[in-house]
Amino acid sequence: MPRPATIAAVKGFRDILPAESQRWRAFERAAGDLFGAYGFGEIRLAVLERTELFARSLGETTDVVEKEMYSFADRDGTSLTLRPEATAGVVRAYLESGLVHRDPAARLWYAGPMFRRERPQKGRYRQFYQIGAEVLGRDDPLADAELLLMLVRYLAVVGASEVRLSLNSLGDAACRPAYRERVRAFGEAHREALCPDCHRRLERNPLRLLDCKVEGCRAVMARAPVMLQSLCAACRAHFDAVCALLDQERVAYVIDPRIVRGLDYYCRTAFEVLASGLGAQNAVAGGGRYDGLVAALGGPDVAGVGFAVGLDRLAAAVEIDGTGSEGPAAVILPLEERAVGPGLALATRLRHAGVHVGLEPAGRSLKALLRTADRQRARLAVILGGDELAAGRATVRDLARREDEPLALALDAPEAELLRRVRRGATV
Ligand code: AMP
Repeated sequence: MPRPATIAAVKGFRDILPAESQRWRAFERAAGDLFGAYGFGEIRLAVLERTELFARSLGETTDVVEKEMYSFADRDGTSLTLRPEATAGVVRAYLESGLVHRDPAARLWYAGPMFRRERPQKGRYRQFYQIGAEVLGRDDPLADAELLLMLVRYLAVVGASEVRLSLNSLGDAACRPAYRERVRAFGEAHREALCPDCHRRLERNPLRLLDCKVEGCRAVMARAPVMLQSLCAACRAHFDAVCALLDQERVAYVIDPRIVRGLDYYCRTAFEVLASGLGAQNAVAGGGRYDGLVAALGGPDVAGVGFAVGLDRLAAAVEIDGTGSEGPAAVILPLEERAVGPGLALATRLRHAGVHVGLEPAGRSLKALLRTADRQRARLAVILGGDELAAGRATVRDLARREDEPLALALDAPEAELLRRVRRGATV
């Protein structure tokens, strides 16, 4: 029979193998620890949502909703979408679970895959991972400042040191409409230089002109009026207070009036973190305030502010430790079939005590087995042959120290003694 062909992953989708996933787990652990200290609890969100959730929260005219969502009709005809981001899901859960009443100032963090049908390239995938945090029910500048402080600290803790935080304010319902009109007028004046999508945006949502990715449009819009100069007094005071708190805590940032967030519900504080050395896709995190979102999703007038860190890019930005993953503390090498059972018993005792132990099948020469242990970068080889079984003691060879003098390890040694022997070997 011909061998069947292998099956490739879907374009833009990839797997994270152990050499890398170890680092990703460290990212998640660090998030749990640090975010916990700031009062955030983890929420494990649904991956699939009703399409309507994103249409309503992100805005019908955003790139994500218009072109990038993985949507399909369920068997009963309901339109469903693989989440392109998590804030909408967090707010849905906050309302649906009743947290909005029990804990209106909930602080929630999440980690998981998001899905957008963008053009794949280095640092841009169709399934990518985010760790994010959302503060609900707080419209004061302290909430923004704490969140930013936590984000910056998080990036430092996981080892992304070459990063730059950029801040802007997008105004609110009081000052944005007038600004939108100024952008519309500017866009109209430069209509002939704008792309067809932007012509449509001009009619439907002129602020979208500011984050068009087409080079010609970007060149035009670089000269457009900026929101920061059109803020109302309340938004100005909010922004200044956020900056003052960051200054007090010595958080480095730059003010960048060109930051617009792609999603309609953002207001006031908007930010982005860029990392050096990543090429074109150099944004590792972004976020901002979204005070109108909860109400837009049918809830009360509750404010919110949050961020999302892109793990794929964070992993690329964090210096890669050349040593790779660690080998086992010990590998047990049964020289004959009879030694397999006692070998498994020893391995189980050590593994259940939390020690990383390898166990090889019998049937090869000692030389071949030692080579295998070396390849795995094991520190100790624990040899179990006929002599060892008769004496009830394994021969332990320190592969790291290349010692010829073998040590003996009693197979029935008490737990503490076993651990002490293996760990001592493992630390030399
Ligand atoms: P956003 O939800 O668009 O604000 O994105 C927040 C962060 O998620 C970005 O700063 C990126 O680090 C990451 N991100 C967004 N889209 C992608 C993608 N297609 N591939 C990889 N990372 C992404």
